[in-house]
Amino acid sequence: MDYDPDNIFAKILRGEIPATRVYEDDDTLAFMDIMPRADGHLLVIPKTPCRNLLDASPEQMAAVMQTVQKMGRAVMKAFDAQGVTVQQFNEAAGGQEVFHLHFHVLPRREGDRLRPPG
Ligand code: 5GP
Repeated sequence: MDYDPDNIFAKILRGEIPATRVYEDDDTLAFMDIMPRADGHLLVIPKTPCRNLLDASPEQMAAVMQTVQKMGRAVMKAFDAQGVTVQQFNEAAGGQEVFHLHFHVLPRREGDRLRPPG
């Protein structure tokens, strides 16, 4: 599938635009979403090019999901959350806006509501 090397998250990976990085390993990066829909809303991405879930290799999926799990546990503690929502969108029709694979990690509390996008 097409991968645009100048998408926003590729630029964050290259350090060309700033981001609040919260975790990094050899294969993945986690950083705060610029328009958080919950306090502590962060994004997890692979460091290698990948348009979305439909395009991901088993290795990319394994690495990203391990970081999603780590970040889920971390936001539970850091934001005193009672749960975590993980979201992921594929292609424009599926709600994807940035075409580099990413998972949203959203700390949740009983009865809260996610803020609308934007
Ligand atoms: P999606 O593609 O999953 O629909 O949404 C992309 C997400 O990336 C949105 O939640 C949006 O707020 C976030 N986002 C878009 N541009 C930037 C940016 O420049 N920096 C950061 N940290 N997040 C961004």
